[in-house]
Amino acid sequence: MYLLPELPYSTDALQPVIGAETMKTHHGKHHARYVQVVNEMLGDAAGAQPLEDTIAAAHARGDRKLFNNAAQAWNHAFFWESMAPRTTAPTGALADAVAASFGQAGALKDRLVAEGTGHFGSGWVWLVAAKGKLEVRATHDADVPWLDEATVPLLVCDVWEHAYYLDYKNDRNRFLRAWIDRLANWDFAAEQYAAALRGEARYRYPLATGTPGTKVRQGSDGAVLERRIT
Ligand code: FE
Repeated sequence: MYLLPELPYSTDALQPVIGAETMKTHHGKHHARYVQVVNEMLGDAAGAQPLEDTIAAAHARGDRKLFNNAAQAWNHAFFWESMAPRTTAPTGALADAVAASFGQAGALKDRLVAEGTGHFGSGWVWLVAAKGKLEVRATHDADVPWLDEATVPLLVCDVWEHAYYLDYKNDRNRFLRAWIDRLANWDFAAEQYAAALRGEARYRYPLATGTPGTKVRQGSDGAVLERRIT
């Protein structure tokens, strides 16, 4: 079976930008449900291959229900990693790439806020590396940007209403501005970018068993949780 990855911080760690109630519901209900549906749909085959392969295969054969739930499981896991309860900034090769593609970090942030605010309906706003350049892109509903192998996601923000409604009501713009200024995990983005430049493995959704450096435990509600040991 596929796991619900444990949050890399406590549910109140991102306050006041994202409240604990939002995090508890978002991770413990929304994300958990996507994982549960994938596991129910696949039965014994769940977790037998990397989630990325399940997503790509479901997309290729037009299985929208499996794709939507599996991709949402992946997107949320990447979203938790895309946030940090401390202020970070682009460094190293990523800082150079930001300067080359956007001029300055402020312009990139403005672009991400504008793209996410302007996206109609539910979706995700990403910073990706594609063909040697950084780009800001929005994807709709559950869509992921990496089915094209040349595109490497570096950061993502969830712009579904469930991500911000308790804290910001309908003001997605204010959520995105606070998110990019105070929560975006530039250290994670820099790691992803450096790995992409070296041609090394990028972020992968944790597998249920046998993933080096992980331990698996059962949550109080029966959900399988995982915390990476770093
Ligand atoms: Fe979400």
